[in-house]
Amino acid sequence: MSWKTLEMNQPHVAKTITNSIRKGRVAHAYLFKGQKGTGKKEAALLFAKRLFCLTHVHDEPCEICVNCRRIESGNHPDVHLVIPDGNSIKKQQIEQLQEEFTKTAVESSRKLYIIEHADQMTVQAANSLLKFLEEPSAKTVAILLTEQFHRILPTIVSRCQVVSFHPLSTERIYAYLQQEGVARELAILAARVTNNVEEAYQLSQDDWFAQARKIVIQLYEALNKQYVQALLVIQQHWLTHFTNKEQMNIGLDLLLYLYKDLLYVILGEKQQIAYDDCISEFQRSRFLYCEKQIAQHMKAILQAKARLHTNMNPQLLMEQLVLQLREGSAFV
Ligand SMILES: [Zn+2]
Repeated sequence: MSWKTLEMNQPHVAKTITNSIRKGRVAHAYLFKGQKGTGKKEAALLFAKRLFCLTHVHDEPCEICVNCRRIESGNHPDVHLVIPDGNSIKKQQIEQLQEEFTKTAVESSRKLYIIEHADQMTVQAANSLLKFLEEPSAKTVAILLTEQFHRILPTIVSRCQVVSFHPLSTERIYAYLQQEGVARELAILAARVTNNVEEAYQLSQDDWFAQARKIVIQLYEALNKQYVQALLVIQQHWLTHFTNKEQMNIGLDLLLYLYKDLLYVILGEKQQIAYDDCISEFQRSRFLYCEKQIAQHMKAILQAKARLHTNMNPQLLMEQLVLQLREGSAFV
């Protein structure tokens, strides 16, 4: 993540970092809270780079000086990262950190540490950290990261400046994916399927996702032809590709967005369309449906999504859905 991306995705976070440095008011401890994929760790590393950078331009770390590069590769002697050892962060890990910090900083007068998944500290580790936070050295900066803010001890929270990371909007994720060079047809769907930027990027890079999109289109085309053909797509492609609840949920989401597109075509709002390679198919099939039917079909897909949680047999679930998607259409 670059500084520019941080400014775009989490503007208030970029501002908080900039202001604390500019005004010489860097806190002893920060607590970055927010959902997975909101860029907390990346922001913490950018903060570290900005503090240690030798040639920063205004608020941005340069990314090329020796300090920026060593932080990037995890090799800076004065920047430490603590991650859970197995399922928890143990007391020894915090003690090691303290030991490290009692030595004077190797390269500069500052030291910074980042604790990832700070909520996974054991009680002993948290108490150990608390003591550390109670005797702050002017030159030490702590950044705690958490996706489970409610699990952090209030005594720790009270010693930190809390910085909130917001979930990204679909538009922001889409813009980010485009910036990363992801093809439009995948970026637009990946951004709709999840509000986790990391997950959206991974999906967009995964052949499975591109293939999922193809199968959804195949199913739609088959539905417009014959019931039997649609069942064949379910048997031969859908059930072998979407093999668990999570995957099924993504598949059903993709199908939902396809029907949404059909609605957009009928309403003449083509700029909203996700499946723009299907426009000619939409134009051909639009006369098979009226708006009300499309709304019913979307409702049926949402019901199928809800049924995923009832442990219904996936084949039965999809066959019922196919029946519903054929219902009331001009071709029955
Ligand atoms: Zn630099």
